[in-house]
Amino acid sequence: MEQLKEVSDIIKLDENVRELLKAPQKFLEVSIPIKMDNGRLKIFTGFRSQYNNARGPYKGGVRFHPLVTPEEVRALSAWMTWKTAVVDLPLGGGKGGVIVNPRELSEGELERLSRGYIQAIYKLIGPDLDVPAPDVYTNPKIMGWMLDEYEKQIGRHAPGVITGKPLSIGGSRVREYSTAMGAVYILNKAAKKLGLEKNATVGIQGFGNAGSFMAKLLHKEGYRIAVVSDSKGTICNYMGLDPEAVASHKIKTGSVANFPGASVKEPGMHCFEHEMDILIPAALENALTAANVGAVNTQLIIELANGPITPEADEILKKKNILVVPDILANAGGVIVSYFEQVQNAYGNYWTSEKILGKLEEAMATAFDAAWDEKEKYLTTFRMGAYALAVKRVAEAMKDRGWV
Ligand code: NAD
Repeated sequence: MEQLKEVSDIIKLDENVRELLKAPQKFLEVSIPIKMDNGRLKIFTGFRSQYNNARGPYKGGVRFHPLVTPEEVRALSAWMTWKTAVVDLPLGGGKGGVIVNPRELSEGELERLSRGYIQAIYKLIGPDLDVPAPDVYTNPKIMGWMLDEYEKQIGRHAPGVITGKPLSIGGSRVREYSTAMGAVYILNKAAKKLGLEKNATVGIQGFGNAGSFMAKLLHKEGYRIAVVSDSKGTICNYMGLDPEAVASHKIKTGSVANFPGASVKEPGMHCFEHEMDILIPAALENALTAANVGAVNTQLIIELANGPITPEADEILKKKNILVVPDILANAGGVIVSYFEQVQNAYGNYWTSEKILGKLEEAMATAFDAAWDEKEKYLTTFRMGAYALAVKRVAEAMKDRGWV
């Protein structure tokens, strides 16, 4: 909301549009009763927020996490609206969540919860209505159960209702590494603007799903992966780490720490104090704060994680003249390939990886250039340039529909 207010002032957004964008169009809270393995009934709480559908069906993941709150789901559904708009997909924004720690459930309980969530919300979703996908602690297997339950409820096939499905039931190739791949295309464009060479040094905070794919893809492109961290420690080698070897080490030991041939910082120290040409936060939100951003010594930041920089830290980075590629643009590769999955489902015609990668690169490059033009036009940051592009697109669709 802070970001929306800032960009609304920059682009002088119509007051009526501002009013309509203050809250989701629809917000549903549901109780999901699940028979646990011990025979007792447990009631879980789930949410679905439908923020805006002026440009197309609501789109956004479902999070299973013990700390899910209605406010968080609402905020994430707004974020999804800007993300689909900035990369010009004919989609709106939504988000779902269930308050649960999935690690405490058996596989059977997890399946019953996934199906129960869909039983509770199925009337609100559909391929041309609202399309869920995986998010924190949900995965293709859970999407498979959810799709099956939706199709049971409506009595026919409808694979486009959910993306991030297994390949065997209509999933898309490339989806697994689409977020990181999209970010690589964006990073190449941003590095060119700054005159950075392909052997530039890179630091990645977070070596999970997104961060480890990013490290492997950048290594293949010729960048030097100099610093890598996870929640247990930071390793560094300015000659360049081999991300495949780091990934194997992490599988064996549970962390990147103590990787042979790299110097190691104490657990808890993260990578921000190292010098590097490009920094990629790929862990959690609010990683860079006013307290630690002072130490950052880099030229370019690519927000692979959602919301890794607090507004205060962002101000400091602006003063330091560091180029920040915002999350809504940098990590939009995932939702772009999700959209490709919907298109393939609608036509029952499945694409090769080459075709998907070509279309992904084109979509990312076009969005980068359009957001950069807005940044130049309004003499603002790249973040506000991307928001200006997204919010104006949503506002235009709202106006054309006669909503405001
Ligand atoms: P993940 O759980 O697989 O990985 C998170 C990683 O961060 C882990 O390696 C963890 O050890 C590390 N970490 C946690 N705290 C840390 C700390 N203080 N210092 C260093 N490392 C720390 O999650 P993910 O799917 O890779 O997602 C990461 C971020 O990317 C999230 O913000 C997510 O919303 C965003 N994102 C992911 C995708 C995707 O397709 N996976 C898509 C869009 C956005």
